Amino acid sequence: MVVRVGVNGFGTIGKRVAHAIQLQDDMDLVGVVKRRPDYAALQALRAGISIYTPSPEDAEKMEKAGIRVAGTIEDLLSSVDVVVDATPGGTGAEYKKLYERYGVKQVFQGGEKPHVAEASFSTLCNYEEALGKKSLRVVSCNTTGLLRLICTLNKAFGVSSVRAVIVRRAADPKEVKRGPVNAIVLNPPTLPSHHGEDVKTVLPKLDIVTFAVVVPTTLMHVHAVTLKLSQPVTRGDVVSALSEAPRIMMVNSALTGIRSTAELMEAARETRRRSDIPELVVFEDSIAVRGSEVLLFQAVHQESIVVPENVDAIRAVAGLAASAEETIRITDSTLGVGQPLW
Ligand code: NAD
Repeated sequence: MVVRVGVNGFGTIGKRVAHAIQLQDDMDLVGVVKRRPDYAALQALRAGISIYTPSPEDAEKMEKAGIRVAGTIEDLLSSVDVVVDATPGGTGAEYKKLYERYGVKQVFQGGEKPHVAEASFSTLCNYEEALGKKSLRVVSCNTTGLLRLICTLNKAFGVSSVRAVIVRRAADPKEVKRGPVNAIVLNPPTLPSHHGEDVKTVLPKLDIVTFAVVVPTTLMHVHAVTLKLSQPVTRGDVVSALSEAPRIMMVNSALTGIRSTAELMEAARETRRRSDIPELVVFEDSIAVRGSEVLLFQAVHQESIVVPENVDAIRAVAGLAASAEETIRITDSTLGVGQPLW
């Protein structure tokens, strides 16, 4: 079966998800919704992607700029089975009624409030529960990173509590209007930060508390995480469990010389399209174990980490793969997730 998919919003996440859909044999990218005629619209056309606009007025602007438009968002919704909403946070909720009017299944992003969808989603944690839902919300980049770690260690040993400090990038590299920031900004000044609460939209019973600060960088986020497991383990146990898990990349700083987000990005520029790192990066040398307590540093490439989960979420709502293992196998091989960075 081939599922017809449309992507609303063609920014950081939308363009990556659209490209990822083009690489799937069981999905057909019918088109994307784009508001403004710009370089990204021209690139979409070059990549063979049909462009739809939110309104007929936007279509006129596109046509004036010489960009061929296939129709409005309503035309797109009448010819797809699933829509991936990748509009700015909060805008997806405004579109929800329109999506429902056209009877399409919906995949939202982490910038939306959890109640926008029937369930919040992270492949390694709840793919099977998400199967057959009409709408899912792929949790944000930081939450996806935390959940990949927590669900991997939970499956292997049980996790009873998590404490994490999230060091957030201030903006994506293209966001010229949001920088430069010359400060460490408490995010927010009251504790805990929302990230732990977001993890609980997928794992409601987990004892988790997070702090967050925003720092002047655009490359990646870094997390300092302490997990309490349900049993004492050795460092070797933790390293094996994380090394064997899908979508987690262990980086050994002593062997590679990599001990920063800048060096990770530099490595990715040589080997990855757009220098994307959709894997959660765990700094292997940082892993310390004291009885049942595990401490580590990890890094999240905010622009790409949620892309594999979006592809899996489409499979879940469309019923295209019966298990997490099946969708992970297809998604990761088509997107090159897990390929060596060097
Ligand atoms: P973005 O600003 O890069 O892209 C949003 C796109 O939607 C832009 O092209 C914009 O022109 C377009 N748009 C705005 N209003 C629209 C409308 N009414 N109809 C159609 N298109 C419209 O944003 P992004 O970073 O891709 O974020 C999208 C979602 O993904 C948000 O919920 C965000 O929280 C989430 N997310 C972002 C990141 C990240 O780091 N960038 C990571 C994970 C999740």
